[in-house]
Amino acid sequence: MSERKIDDTAAPIVRMEKLNKNFGALHVLKDVDLSVAPGEVVVIIGASGSGKSTLIRCINGLEEFQSGRLEVDGKMLEPHGKASQTLQQIRTEVGMVFQQFNLFPHLSVLDNITLAPRKVRSASREDARETAKRLLDRVGIADQADKFPSQLSGGQQQRVALARALAMEPRLMLFDEPTSALDPEMIGEVLDAMRELAREGMTMVIVTHEMSFAREVADRVIYIHEGEIVEQGRPADVFDNPRRERTQSFLSRVL
Ligand code: ADP
Ligand code: MG
Repeated sequence: MSERKIDDTAAPIVRMEKLNKNFGALHVLKDVDLSVAPGEVVVIIGASGSGKSTLIRCINGLEEFQSGRLEVDGKMLEPHGKASQTLQQIRTEVGMVFQQFNLFPHLSVLDNITLAPRKVRSASREDARETAKRLLDRVGIADQADKFPSQLSGGQQQRVALARALAMEPRLMLFDEPTSALDPEMIGEVLDAMRELAREGMTMVIVTHEMSFAREVADRVIYIHEGEIVEQGRPADVFDNPRRERTQSFLSRVL
C-alpha cells in the first residue's frame, strides 16, 4: 500500500479523546483516544463484545456517549447526543457499511444508490443515475443496476451497499464486519472492492476478523479489549510482535 498517502500534517478526520460510553450500568468504552488522519486506514480487532461496533457507531452518531470529546471532520459531537444539526452533517459525510447490508428491499439497485444523493444532496435524477452507474461499475456489478436486492448474492448486495455509501462522496468510510454475513466464496469480492477504495486514498475505519486483509490494507491496527485500546501499531508490529499478553492470546485464537 506504499503508493497511498496519509496526510498526518492535516487535521485528523476523527479526533476522539477520553470517550466513555455506557449502556446503563455497563461501561462499554473506557477513555478511548482515537485519531484518524486523512487517507489513513485503521483496522479495529478484538473479541466479540469488546465494544468495536459501539466505537464506530459513536463516530457517526448512531450511539451517543456519556463523556469525552469527539470531533469528526471538524464538527463536534456532544455527549448525550446533543446538537442534532451537527449529527445530520456528520451522517452525510460519513459512509457506513454494516454486516447486514441494510438495502431498501423495495427499491432497485440503482434507486438504492440514487435515493440519498437526490434527497439529501438535491442531485438531479440524471446526475444521480450517472454517478450510481459509475460506482456500480467500480465495484464490479454494472450489470445488476435494475435488479432488486433479493435477486442478488450477498457479496453483490454488500457491494451495492458500498456503492450506495460512496454515492454521498463521504470523507470517511466506516465498516462494521462487512464480510461476516457472507458465504466464504463471496468474501473476496467485497474485500477487493475495499482494497481498491483504500488504494484510492479513502479514509477508512474497519472492524473485521479478516486478519490477512487487515495485515495487507491497514496503516494501523488497533486491538480493543473490554472497551479499552490495549495495543495499536503497524500491522506487522501488532501481528508479529504483540507487546501485550492479552493481544498475544487473542491473536493466537484468531490467526
Ligand atoms: P463488538 O462489536 O466488539 O462485538 P459491541 O460494541 O456490539 O461489541 O458491544 C459491546 C458491549 O455492549 C457488549 O457487552 C454488548 O452486549 C453491549 N451492547 C451493545 N449494544 C447494546 C445496546 N444497544 N444495549 C445494551 N447493551 C449493548
Ligand atoms: Mg460488533
